[in-house]
Amino acid sequence: MPHPSDRSDATLPRHPFDDDKLREECGVFGVLGVTDAANFVALGLHALQHRGQEAGGIVSHDPETGFNSARRFGYVRDNFTSASLMETLPGSLAIGHVRYSTTGSKGQTAMRDVQPFFGEFSMGGAAIAHNGNITNAMALRRELIDRGSIFQSSSDSECIIHLMARSLQRDIPERMEDALRRVEGAFSVVAMTRTKLIGVRDPLGVRPLVLGRVGTEAKPGWVLSSETCALDIIGAEFIREIAPGEMVVITDAGVESHFPFRPQRPRFCIFEHVYFSRPDSIQGGRSVYETRRQIGVELAREAPVEADLVCPVPDSGTPAAIGYSQESGIPYAMGIVRNQYMGRTFIEPTEQIRNMGVRLKLNVNRALIRGKRVILVDDSVVRGTTSRKIKEMILDAGAKEVHFRIASPPTAWPCFYGVDTPQREKLLAATMSEEEMREHLQVDSLRFISLDGLYRAVGEANGRDPAQPQYCDACFSGDYPVEPSDMVEQGFRLKAAE
Ligand code: SF4
Repeated sequence: MPHPSDRSDATLPRHPFDDDKLREECGVFGVLGVTDAANFVALGLHALQHRGQEAGGIVSHDPETGFNSARRFGYVRDNFTSASLMETLPGSLAIGHVRYSTTGSKGQTAMRDVQPFFGEFSMGGAAIAHNGNITNAMALRRELIDRGSIFQSSSDSECIIHLMARSLQRDIPERMEDALRRVEGAFSVVAMTRTKLIGVRDPLGVRPLVLGRVGTEAKPGWVLSSETCALDIIGAEFIREIAPGEMVVITDAGVESHFPFRPQRPRFCIFEHVYFSRPDSIQGGRSVYETRRQIGVELAREAPVEADLVCPVPDSGTPAAIGYSQESGIPYAMGIVRNQYMGRTFIEPTEQIRNMGVRLKLNVNRALIRGKRVILVDDSVVRGTTSRKIKEMILDAGAKEVHFRIASPPTAWPCFYGVDTPQREKLLAATMSEEEMREHLQVDSLRFISLDGLYRAVGEANGRDPAQPQYCDACFSGDYPVEPSDMVEQGFRLKAAE
C-alpha cells in the first residue's frame, strides 16, 4: 500500500518568510559497519534537515534481502521514525539524502526525483545521493538520450547513473570515476554498492563532505556526511573533510583514498560559512559559529553606527549580531523572537493568514524596542521583501531608527552550484546600488559586509585575492569558477559579456 506521502503532486509549502532566502538544496549521509545502519542514516538526515525539507530517502543493503529503499515527501522526523518502515531497511550499510530541488520538477516534486537513485549494473547494484548541481546536465542528458538512455526522473543527478552504465570499467568505483569526469559543476556524492560506501567531492570542493567514525577502534564503522553536526547526533568522531577532488572507497577493511580528477585550486562555497551550514558544524577546519561571529566583528569595523541595541534577525543573523555587539560595545538584545513551531502548520494558508506574512514566524519584542535606535543584523538580502516587512514591524513597535547590517555582500548573481536562487532580475542587488536598496527598504542606513571583509572573517587575512580567490563567491562577484554552460546556452549572460 502506498504511503500517504507517496503522492506524485506533493508540494511542500514555501512559507512567505522563507521565500526571501537562498536555499541549500541537499544533504547527504552514509554509514557502513554498524547494525541497522538505516537508523543512523535517519538520525543523520534529521540533523541535515536544514539542507532540504522537501523529501528524503534511504537505501540500505543486507546480504539476505539485498537492496531496500524508502523515499518519502516531507520531514525525516515525520517519515523515518516509524519502526515498521525502518524494519524494511535492514543491513549494516545505508545511505540517504534530503532534498530541496534546484533542478528537476521544481515546485511539483515527483517521487521519481527523490534520491538516492539506484542503478543495476552487470557487476551489481549501486545507489547514489548527490548534493550540488551539474552545470552541463542538459547537454549530457541530450547526448545520453540520443545514445539510447531512458531517464526516469527530471533530476540532473540521474546523468551520473547513465554515465556509469555506459562506462566500460570493471568495477563500480571506477565507473563512477569515469562518469564524474564527464560532469561539470558541483558535486558531493555519497554512494554504495553491496559492500562499499563511496564518497566523492568535485575538484573545486564547492559543496562540503566529511568523514567520521563510529563504533570502537577494534570494529570501526564509517560515516560520510554533508556536515559535522550530523556526526554528533550519532556519537561519531569527526575524522577529516573529504578533500576537493578526492574519492574515498570504504569497506570493512578501511578507507582507501584516490584523486581521480585533474587537480584544481579549491573554491569552497563561501556562503556555507555565512548561512547554509549549521552553526554547530565545522567547515574548512573552522567553527561555522565562530566564523559568523567574526563576520559580525568585521561588519562592526567596516560599518559602525551610533545606536542603542544590536538585534539579530533570528536565527541565522544571531552569531553575526553577537560579533557586531562585542566589537561595537552596543548591547545585544533579542529584539525579534522567532516562533520555533511554525513547521508546516499552514500548508494551505488562507488569504487572511498569508497576509500576515512574516508575522507568522517573527514577533517584535515591543517593550525592548520602543524608543530605541536599533541595528538589525541579517545574513543576506535576496529579494528584500522580508527585510522590508521586518523594518515595518520594528517601526510599528516604536523604534526611533532602524539600521540594517548584512553579514554577506550584496547577492547580485544566481548560484548554479546547488543553491536555489531567484532569477537574476529578482535579486535586489542585481538592479540597485546600496543607496537605492536603502531607499527601497526605507531604513535609516543599510550596509553589507565587503567581499574583502567576508574573506577576512573566514581566515584570509589579506581579504580576497582577485587573481586567485580561495572560495566560490560567484553570487556576490559574478566570478563563476565553472562556467554554467547549460545556463549560458539558455541565454544567461556572464559578467564578462555584460
Ligand atoms: S554561487 Fe554563492 S551560493 Fe553558490 S556555490 Fe558559489 S558562493 Fe555558494
